[in-house]
Amino acid sequence: MKQTDIKEVKQLLATPKNIVIVTHWSPDGDAMGSSLGLYNYLIQQKHHVTVITPNDYPAFLNWLPGNNKVLNYQLKTKIAKPIIAKADIIFCLDFNSLKRIEVLGVEVGKAKAIKFIIDHHLQPEDFAKYMLHSTEACSACELVFDFINLMADGKSINKNIANCLYTGMMTDTGSFRFPSTTARTHKIVAALIDAGANNSEIHNRIYDDNTESRLRLLGYCLSEKLTVLKEYNTAFFSLRADELKRFNYKKGDTESVVNYALSIEGICFAAFFVERDEAVKTSFRSKGTFDVNLFARKNFNGGGHAHAAGGQSDLTLDEAVIKFVSLLPEYKKQLNKKQ
Ligand code: 5GP
Ligand code: MN
Repeated sequence: MKQTDIKEVKQLLATPKNIVIVTHWSPDGDAMGSSLGLYNYLIQQKHHVTVITPNDYPAFLNWLPGNNKVLNYQLKTKIAKPIIAKADIIFCLDFNSLKRIEVLGVEVGKAKAIKFIIDHHLQPEDFAKYMLHSTEACSACELVFDFINLMADGKSINKNIANCLYTGMMTDTGSFRFPSTTARTHKIVAALIDAGANNSEIHNRIYDDNTESRLRLLGYCLSEKLTVLKEYNTAFFSLRADELKRFNYKKGDTESVVNYALSIEGICFAAFFVERDEAVKTSFRSKGTFDVNLFARKNFNGGGHAHAAGGQSDLTLDEAVIKFVSLLPEYKKQLNKKQ
């Protein structure tokens, strides 16, 4: 962010404003952690703030401070619309294109508010006046931490803010193990713990809160649904809607299943396909040099980061998988590169 922008934003936030915070479709730990981290900072500064999500998010995030004030646009469209129209500022967190918030993007796009993107995804679109963006940041939460430090000082980070930001940094780095984790990540996390983040408790709430059916669904995926294509160093899962139903699927239940495929020795490309009402949702993960952002953009109408991306397809589940497998020969050289 330019110095002049920082000055302008400081001036803008010097008096109480109507602020809306929006985040991406199917919010994850970073989307909710960054949104509620920023929410807790802005209400401390006496602004009127509403967090609006395009749709629902997993129950293991419901403990985040401020969660009970969040508006789900799908369920509360009538309440949310005038709040968006009246906003002075709209913060867009953890996404890089208005398409990522589906129909909510139409309202945000036509709102008179000043837009401010805080994001770490590749290739952001130009729809905001201000942008705090870095693909080096491990998470949007890291950038919210930077934003608060640019606006004020670290002392403004209270326990609620610290718990929210810790959550997103932890989930987006796979508990501080992905290559996006840097010394800076750990320094910020140390500062958050100093500010009151309860790291061990957060781990428990996010990772040790499985329902029995979620764990059984994972077991089913691992034993029955995994395909390994050694020739391409690729492994993937696919799940039909009836299988989700059989395991009493709840939002978030399949989150990070794809990482198990990537954990297989020698595998550098992993995918997960799941049949949803709207479309087939895809998740891609990689290790080493294979760029799944490019792969998802080119072939599955999506995007994300070099090592973690997603997308969707209007094909049937089987057709989407066939398409995926048929694309692999094109990428064989890259997939067989010594890492
Ligand atoms: P996941 O596979 O966990 O849904 O998403 C992995 C990463 O890719 C996240 O950073 C997410 O924001 C991004 N992503 C997931 N789905 C899409 C999509 O449909 N379009 C774009 N542009 N990014 C996506
Ligand atoms: Mn993120």
